[in-house]
Amino acid sequence: MSSEIEYIHELGENRNCNLKLYVLSTCGHCHRALTFLRNHSIDFKYLYVDLLDRETIRYVRDGLREKFNMKRLKYPFLVINDEKYLVGFDEESYKALFGMTSEVEYTLVPGENKSWKIKLHALSTCGFCKLAMEFLRNHSIEFEYIFCDLLSREVADKLNEEIIEICKEPSKSKDEFMRQARFPFLVVEGRKCLGGFNENTYKEFFNIQVTLKTEDFGKKDLLLEEEKIMTKKISLPKGKKTLEDTKLFTEMVAKHQGWELTRDETLLQILREGLTTNWNRYGYFSCPCRLADEIREMDKDIICPCEYAKPDIDEFGYCYCGLYLSKEFFAAGKPTSSIPERRPE
Ligand code: SF4
Repeated sequence: MSSEIEYIHELGENRNCNLKLYVLSTCGHCHRALTFLRNHSIDFKYLYVDLLDRETIRYVRDGLREKFNMKRLKYPFLVINDEKYLVGFDEESYKALFGMTSEVEYTLVPGENKSWKIKLHALSTCGFCKLAMEFLRNHSIEFEYIFCDLLSREVADKLNEEIIEICKEPSKSKDEFMRQARFPFLVVEGRKCLGGFNENTYKEFFNIQVTLKTEDFGKKDLLLEEEKIMTKKISLPKGKKTLEDTKLFTEMVAKHQGWELTRDETLLQILREGLTTNWNRYGYFSCPCRLADEIREMDKDIICPCEYAKPDIDEFGYCYCGLYLSKEFFAAGKPTSSIPERRPE
């Protein structure tokens, strides 16, 4: 029906849904709906219904009525993926539609050991973040977590303020601090901070004597609760990069650069999934272990293989995510753990 109509396309970074907004040029609610979508960088198309000629108005209006079985249309009228609709403008409903909440909401993972109040700030795409969560789970340490890359700008800003307040080094500005933040980022008792994941550092921190091998983490079922949540929160558009595409890409990079891919199959799978997710979100392979600015120009140094991979591999034997290894490090068979962030402030 609407293929013959000329919609105005508003480009936005968030392209998770196919959105068509029907508005009236005279309507305050319609204006607020347009402003909301623009302010949240949501990609959508819109049509000023009242500016069309009578025949086209009838065509659009009757088509929508029939499709959604409605007697009367109200504006703004938002059509989602050509199958659902939202009538009128109510900020909370729009926020709910796009998975935005105005509160910083952590998810609790219960554990027998409640000695500390732990908040884990993670990226849904990051292998080390998943290892950190596994570590806490395996030791039955109760914690709360939040995936920072799945938050709206508004909530992310609020959260960043809180973290900076707790952990900021006086010499660093807010932007410098956040750019340098290493994920996973653990805040204990609202005071102490621990950036990155290193099994021994965690053991020392939590005073754990038990010897665990890194490989033990790999035997867990990949369909963890938070991964299900992640899948629910990000509804990826069809026809984008697949895991197989990313597999070929990582193999090609490793071959071209003379590197090896990690032999930790679980980590490899997690990082490939993370790269695939990021490509489908942003249109480029943003590093799965760093928080993207979601603007290609600003993220260009962290597009995989990132600018820091080579110096990190030369110095530590592997890249920041632990995906690519030098041949020597690979041959030595040592496990990888978090390394310092080389990205400049
Ligand atoms: S090369 Fe860089 S971007 Fe790619 S996985 Fe490693 S650290 Fe991340």
